[in-house]
Amino acid sequence: MTHPSFPGAVRTGIGTDVHRLVPRSDDDPPMQLAGLSWPEEQQRLEGHSDADVAAHAACDALLAAAGLGDLGSNFGTADPAWAGAAGVALLGETVRRVRAAGFAVGNVSVQVVGNRPRLGARRTDAEAALSAAVGAPVSVSATTTDGLGLTGRGEGVAAIATALVVRQEPEEAP
Ligand SMILES: [Zn+2]
Repeated sequence: MTHPSFPGAVRTGIGTDVHRLVPRSDDDPPMQLAGLSWPEEQQRLEGHSDADVAAHAACDALLAAAGLGDLGSNFGTADPAWAGAAGVALLGETVRRVRAAGFAVGNVSVQVVGNRPRLGARRTDAEAALSAAVGAPVSVSATTTDGLGLTGRGEGVAAIATALVVRQEPEEAP
């Protein structure tokens, strides 16, 4: 067991992400947010990948906690391998890298900032989808900004995340 008082054993990280809301035509895939598809939304989030701001913020928080840089340095937009990648796929690969660096994931907390979609009714589903991708508890909450700023004007959706990781002790010699 790693003791919480051991210096450097428990580390936190923070991540944020924003993507633009754009009109959705019939040919476009539905909005992807917090590991879920939102086919009833008339808009979608625009980005190099599926633009799931909640998943991306969680990736950034996990990478920061493990000291592994950020989403851009790990999954650059110049890399065609990640074009159109699902947020949960990026999250799964992020956790693989965090574990390879010697950390276990304690938990992740994500807050989505925006007017739409209304996350409340599907919050439990979102938590299940993101927790499955991470292999540890992921909490999802949502808030709005009283009509102010880019999220309040409906220009985009933002997300803020924190993550806690715990350094794993090396295997004991037999
Ligand atoms: Zn993003």
